[in-house]
Amino acid sequence: MKKEIFYDIAIIGGGISGTSLLYTLANYSNINSILLLEKYDDIATLNSNGLGNSQTLHCGDIETNYTLQKAAKVKRTAAMVENYAKLYGYEEKYIFKFTKMALGVGDEEVAYIKKRYDDFKELYPYMEFWDKSRLNEIEPMLTYGRKENIAAMGAKERYTAVNFGEISKSFVQNAKNSNKDIEVCLNEEVYHIEKKGTKFLISTMKERYFADYVVVNAGAHSLLLAHKMGYGLNFSCLPIGGSFYYTKERVLNSKVYTVQNPKLPFAAIHGDPDIVMDSKVRFGPTALALPKLERYHGSHFIEFLNTLNPDEDVLKVFYDLLKDKDIRDYILKNFMYEIPGVRKSLFAKEVKKIIPAVEADDLVYAQKVGGLRPQVIDKTNQKLLLGEAKIDTQKGIIFNMTPSPGATSCLDNAQKDALLACRFLNKKFDMKKFETRLVNQKEEVLL
Ligand SMILES: Cc1cc2nc3c(=O)[nH]c(=O)nc-3n(C[C@H](O)[C@H](O)[C@H](O)COP(=O)(O)OP(=O)(O)OC[C@H]3O[C@@H](n4cnc5c(N)ncnc54)[C@H](O)[C@@H]3O)c2cc1C
Repeated sequence: MKKEIFYDIAIIGGGISGTSLLYTLANYSNINSILLLEKYDDIATLNSNGLGNSQTLHCGDIETNYTLQKAAKVKRTAAMVENYAKLYGYEEKYIFKFTKMALGVGDEEVAYIKKRYDDFKELYPYMEFWDKSRLNEIEPMLTYGRKENIAAMGAKERYTAVNFGEISKSFVQNAKNSNKDIEVCLNEEVYHIEKKGTKFLISTMKERYFADYVVVNAGAHSLLLAHKMGYGLNFSCLPIGGSFYYTKERVLNSKVYTVQNPKLPFAAIHGDPDIVMDSKVRFGPTALALPKLERYHGSHFIEFLNTLNPDEDVLKVFYDLLKDKDIRDYILKNFMYEIPGVRKSLFAKEVKKIIPAVEADDLVYAQKVGGLRPQVIDKTNQKLLLGEAKIDTQKGIIFNMTPSPGATSCLDNAQKDALLACRFLNKKFDMKKFETRLVNQKEEVLL
C-alpha cells in the first residue's frame, strides 16, 4: 500500500526551473513544506545540465535576435542569476568571466553592428565598438585569413558563462539549508495528477502525494501533463534539438555571437569556450525538430504526438514556416548537420563565418551534448512562440514550458510563480529580501 504524504506545494521537475522555484519558496516565502519530484536519479540531467545548453547568461548585449525591449527584460533576469552566484560565492566555480561580442561580417553586417552599438550603448554602457584591427588584438583567429571587413560590439571580462546544472544543484542545497520542510525525491516520475477536493493528488510509481498547490516545470513533459488534465489544449509543443561541434584546438577565448537573419526563428550559431569540457570551444547550436520529448532517452513518440496535438491550426503554422525559402533551406541545412559523412564539411562553412581558417577536419561532432527546446505553438493565434509559455489555470496548478533563455530567466520565473502560489495559498512572499539580494544586490547583503 502506497503512503499518502501531504505538502503545501509540489514542484514537478528538477531542472533549473523547478530547483530555482524550490530555492525561492524556501528562502523568501513562509510556505512551510515543499516537495520536489524528479524522474531521473539526479538534478538537472536534461536541458539544464552543463552540457545540455550553450552555457550563456543571456543578458541581451550580444544576442542580435533580441530587440531593445527584449534585451532590457533579459538584462534584469540575467542579473538575478549573477547576483545569486555572487551571494553564495560561486564566482569562477559555477559562473565565469569571458570577453564576449556580437560579430558582424561584411560591410552590411558591420554597418548593422555599428547602428546596434549606438542603439544599445545606453542600456549597456560597458559595451565597446571594435573594428577589425582591434579584433585582431582581442581574438586573432577572427581575422586570420579573412578578406572581408568585420566589426563587433563587445565587452571584456564579464560574467557570461554559467554551469546551469551546478547552479540547479546549488538551488536544492540552499533550499535544504533553510529551516523549511524540504523533500526532494529522485527517480520518481509523475504520471498522473488530479484534483481531489481542495488538494491535488500526484501519483508516481512509488507514492501518492497530496499538495495544495502544484507547479509543473517538466520541460516538454509539462504540456503533456497539462493536456492529460485538460489544460493548455490551445498549445502544441514542437521539440527542437540543438547539437554542437567542438574544435580540436582552443581557437577562441571569447564568446562570439553572430548577426541574426531576422527571418529565422532560432538564434544564429555562436562560438563558446566550453566551461565543462575545459580545453574545448564549441560551435552551435543547430536547430532540428525531433519527434521526442527528451533528446537522449527513449523515443516518447506517443507522448510527442500528444503534445503536438496536430490539427489544422498546427498545420497552418508549419505551412507559414515552410512557404519561406530561407526557412526551408535552414531546416534542410540543420537536418544535414546531423548526417555522418557530410555533416562536418557542411557545418564547417558556418564556423568559417567566425573562424575563417577552420576546416572540416578541425571539427568533432559533440556526442550527447545539447538538449531539446520545447517550442510552443499558440494554436489560437496560429503562431510559433519563440520564448517561454505558462499555463496558469488559477485553480492551484501552473505548467511552464521554458525554451531558451529559460535557464537565464529561472529566478525571474521562480519569483513570478512564487507570487502566484503565495497569493493562492494566502501566504507571504518577502519581496524586499528577494529584491535586495537578487535584483538590486548591495555589497552588504553578500553572505
Ligand atoms: C541547445 C540548447 C541551448 C540552450 N542554451 C541556453 C543558454 O545558453 N542560456 C539559457 O539561458 N538557456 C539556454 N537554453 C535553454 C535552457 O537550457 C532551458 O530553458 C532550461 O534548461 C529549462 O529548464 P527546465 O528546468 O524548465 O527544464 P529541464 O532542464 O528540461 O528540466 C525538466 C526536468 O523535469 C523532469 N521531468 C520531466 N517529466 C517529469 C515527470 N513526469 N515527473 C518528474 N520529473 C519530470 C526532467 O527529468 C527534468 O529534470 C538552451 C537550450 C538548448 C536545448
